[in-house]
Amino acid sequence: MSINSVSVNLKQKVKNLFTYPGGVKVDSHKIHDDDTNIRFCNVPERLTLSLSQHIGSPAIPVVNIGDKVLKGQVIADQTGHISARIHAPTSGIIEAIGQYPIPHPSGLTTKCIVIKSDGNDEWLPHKGATNPESLSPYDIRTYVENAGVVGLGGATFPSAVKIDKSPGVRIHTLIINGAECEPYISCDEALMKQRAEEVVLGARLIQKALLAKKCIIALEDDIPIAYERLTEITRHYLDHKVDVVQIPELYPSGGEKQLIQILTGLEVPTKKIPAQIGVSVINVATAASVYRAVYQGEPLISRIITLTGGALKTSTNVEVLLGTPIEHLLHHAGLDEQRLSRLIMGGPMMGFNLPSAQLPTLKATNCILAATEDELAPLEAAMPCIRCGRCADHCPMSLLPQQMYWYSKNHDLKKIQDYNIFDCIECGCCSYVCPSNIPLVQYFRYGKAEVHKDRCQKEKSDKARNRHELREQRLEIIKKEKAEKRKHMAARKKEMAAKKAKEAAEKAADNNPDNSSLESKPENEEDPIKAAMKRVQAKKEAMKKQQ
Ligand code: SF4
Ligand code: SF4
Repeated sequence: MSINSVSVNLKQKVKNLFTYPGGVKVDSHKIHDDDTNIRFCNVPERLTLSLSQHIGSPAIPVVNIGDKVLKGQVIADQTGHISARIHAPTSGIIEAIGQYPIPHPSGLTTKCIVIKSDGNDEWLPHKGATNPESLSPYDIRTYVENAGVVGLGGATFPSAVKIDKSPGVRIHTLIINGAECEPYISCDEALMKQRAEEVVLGARLIQKALLAKKCIIALEDDIPIAYERLTEITRHYLDHKVDVVQIPELYPSGGEKQLIQILTGLEVPTKKIPAQIGVSVINVATAASVYRAVYQGEPLISRIITLTGGALKTSTNVEVLLGTPIEHLLHHAGLDEQRLSRLIMGGPMMGFNLPSAQLPTLKATNCILAATEDELAPLEAAMPCIRCGRCADHCPMSLLPQQMYWYSKNHDLKKIQDYNIFDCIECGCCSYVCPSNIPLVQYFRYGKAEVHKDRCQKEKSDKARNRHELREQRLEIIKKEKAEKRKHMAARKKEMAAKKAKEAAEKAADNNPDNSSLESKPENEEDPIKAAMKRVQAKKEAMKKQQ
């Protein structure tokens, strides 16, 4: 198929698409390289694997310092339902297990395993399914889980959990997301162009696992070669129909909720997830990893990363082993340190500044942007809000950024939640268009973090209060039990005294010669004790007289 015929198809498809509010047109700055092969970055001396490079519980090490490991060997196992395994990206020796800094806006450190490469890059023997097309949904999920696959579009949610159809949830449409709308980033484009078959076969497996009727691979309309290659591959597989759809280039069309809206016209309601409206969105690189896990039995140990920016000699997409130090990549791409102004992980809209290059790559690392001052000028000083409303006009989630900014700034946590701050996808459209240069997204991140902190504190104090109340209840019960016991003891004492007195009386009565006459008296006629005492007295007097 020629590129011209592709664009004819596009016009037909666009007619069936829907729109979403807001969004911005941004300069793409992408490398549209047409290499037939994605080049591999060489193996570094050391790899640092974070045990928390996915959403959910951190993985736990199953190796010890000094162990020899092979490429593809499990070095940390998943814990709990939402977690993912970590595998050795190359062969070598476990050199350390401990806390190391990882790329994160907060400068976070996490537990990591450090592997010193032995230079052999020797694989653990592995093989894929004999007949992948005949696997059951359960088998597909097992392969994906064993391979430690997570969402590579940035979410890093464990894929085995995502493709596990929850009871009562029916996924009718699977969307494979190749809409890489963020400027500078082109790793998904390279993948779709050069490994289109992996994407399509991976998409088919996921569709089968989810029992989804429909599968759409979506990509932006500025990469016709990728569209052509994907379309060509899907023609071979007519049993499960996979549609390849181009969408207009607009930021942030690759956002999960925006893409669903463009392709289906469905809106994901606030506080809901796509699965609740029958749609699942999975990134193209994740689909390719699912393909590798099932067809080749290969775990997720590498990913394609865009190395770009004016401070690099070569902008390129390379396949990188997870845990590779960022400085190793910058060296690979020929960094000119004199020209470097900002080092960013991700793109200029949603990425974050890296404090240093001595940090490892993660499963979520899709781009390293080494920008010059000309490319990304330092932020100008923020000025007061002029209430122009541009931020709201461009917000793809139909939020009111101006109000959210105001209440975040004033730490009014109730109000920011009333304005649905948690629906904000942090796309940065509002900051991008703000004429007052207000770093709105930073305020929203701060606001969300404060709400989380507040909720945690509230949860803590609720737990403490519950503990206190339970303790009070326990003490009250103990007090009552003690009182009951005391009462019971007093009654028992009284009973014993009465019994003793009665026994004494009976004994005295037994010693009385006129026993029969006493016995004949009705019991309640006179107090038996008094009567006994009288009898004792009478006996004493009788004895005196006898003397
Ligand atoms: S775009 Fe900026 S100046 Fe305009 S209303 Fe929004 S925050 Fe205020
Ligand atoms: S960052 Fe949030 S508030 Fe701003 S445009 Fe994006 S979704 Fe809307």
